[in-house]
Amino acid sequence: MGNIVRGAGAGAKLLPHRSFTAEGDTYLYAAETGGLFRMDDGVRDALSALASAAAGAVPAEFVSDLRRAGLLDTAGRRGPADRTAHPPLRLRTLVLLLTTSCNLACRYCYEDREEGCSRPGDGQGGPSAAAGMDAPGSVAAADGQERPGAVAGGGTPREMSLESLRGAITFLLEHDGQGGPSAAAGMDAPGSIAAADGQGGPSAAAGMDAPGSVAAAAGTNRKVSVTFFGGEPLLRFPLIRSAVGEARRMARERGKEISFSITTNGTLLTREIAGFLKENGISVCLSIDGPREIHDRNRPYASGRGSYGDVARGTSLLMENRNGFPVAARVTLGRGAVDVRKTFDHLRGLGFDEVGFAPASAAEGSPAALTEEELRAVMDGFRDLADGYVDDVRERRVPAFSNMSQILALIHRGDPMPYPCGAGIGMLAVDPSGTFYPCHRLCGIGDAFGGTETGISEAVRARFLEGARRRRESACDACWAKNFCSGGCYHDAYLRQGDLFAPSVHYCRWIKELFLLGLQTYVRIQNETPTFLDVMLGERGIA
Ligand code: SF4
Ligand code: SF4
Repeated sequence: MGNIVRGAGAGAKLLPHRSFTAEGDTYLYAAETGGLFRMDDGVRDALSALASAAAGAVPAEFVSDLRRAGLLDTAGRRGPADRTAHPPLRLRTLVLLLTTSCNLACRYCYEDREEGCSRPGDGQGGPSAAAGMDAPGSVAAADGQERPGAVAGGGTPREMSLESLRGAITFLLEHDGQGGPSAAAGMDAPGSIAAADGQGGPSAAAGMDAPGSVAAAAGTNRKVSVTFFGGEPLLRFPLIRSAVGEARRMARERGKEISFSITTNGTLLTREIAGFLKENGISVCLSIDGPREIHDRNRPYASGRGSYGDVARGTSLLMENRNGFPVAARVTLGRGAVDVRKTFDHLRGLGFDEVGFAPASAAEGSPAALTEEELRAVMDGFRDLADGYVDDVRERRVPAFSNMSQILALIHRGDPMPYPCGAGIGMLAVDPSGTFYPCHRLCGIGDAFGGTETGISEAVRARFLEGARRRRESACDACWAKNFCSGGCYHDAYLRQGDLFAPSVHYCRWIKELFLLGLQTYVRIQNETPTFLDVMLGERGIA
């Protein structure tokens, strides 16, 4: 980028931005401020003068146009990314890893590592089994379904005890959240909007872990939420049943409101469980990859038998027991499974209210990782779904493409986003032993943040956020998509590059294309139906 010398002061810098066309006009997105403008002649002339002129040749009036558009660095600029103090922990969402066991053996499982998902029912039930509570696998066995035993990785199964779960919920309810930068605070909450585990940041962006409810970012954390996660959390349904009533009582005693969500593979859903989820207002995000031929290839049992039939049965039980919350499908796009439109239509046909996509988290060269060609096919599919999204808005239907809803929310809020997600800020995960990590996927990776007994180590948390800040201010500082991506998912960087704080450069091009699609869609919607985003995001608590 060229420097502007006259008027703005020597060395003033042109800040990252992106111009694009939509609806026959040219628009400009200014990354540092999150501002989005229809480009006027002044700014257009200034940018083209800058592109062709030597430094110092830009007339002063252009400088003021550039400054007006938020494109000029000024001395003393201090955006959120420049702050040296990290946002306080303002815990709103706790993700509970009830078990590391899973009854499926998905081809792309990110837990496929030594400490990851493990075979249930091999006699090492951990504290809960010892306490005679709910042995993992009992639900499946009772249903006469395929006996758990699928191996997605290895290691010894680990199970959360009722005692650890109580400790975690007590911590959530008694944590004295301090106010913080709103953009940082209420971000990533798996399960809260749609894809749940799929999460904002490149999350929203790359369709990974969605910055769910950004809503309660500001103000107090009187409202908190718990996400049941695994492994497969329904292997621990008896624990969930005990926990929900008790947590509600604990919340009432402390004058707080608590809500629940679950991310499940859906194979263990029974009429009883679906009824329980309905009665208790628990929102559900179900992992399903599309029609039978796609789903069964990616998400088999350990025996190799496909799980589609069981998931479809579970889905219809959920649809019969709707509880007022949208039922969300979370699709993982793995090698050979990138027909976005076909998958979307199929899942809408099954009754899902929201469908979110995320590429498989996979190491470079892994057979699950999408090829460049497949990423291009996914983007083509997303463009098609974006057109459908605009049609839905025009015709007053609630759009179901949840990746797009998340991107639009981010653009509409307009706040610069200094971190890729809420990991370690508004959200923490607790592993089965009661140890805190920044998010569910980071359990066992990097330094633990503390435990339910000992509390949070602010020093470890600060080190984590400092790593994120350094990344954004170095490798990603000049990127126009940094508000959307902020360097990308820590877990993905770890898998690909062995470093939590490496920028997700392997996804840069894709992330930028996706964000550009979001900007273009935003303009189309705002031009046609300017009230839509306020209404929709307000209803979802993310405006
Ligand atoms: S440079 Fe790449 S990783 Fe960094 S913010 Fe931009 S798109 Fe994301
Ligand atoms: S680090 Fe965790 S919460 Fe953040 S985007 Fe990645 S998986 Fe989601």
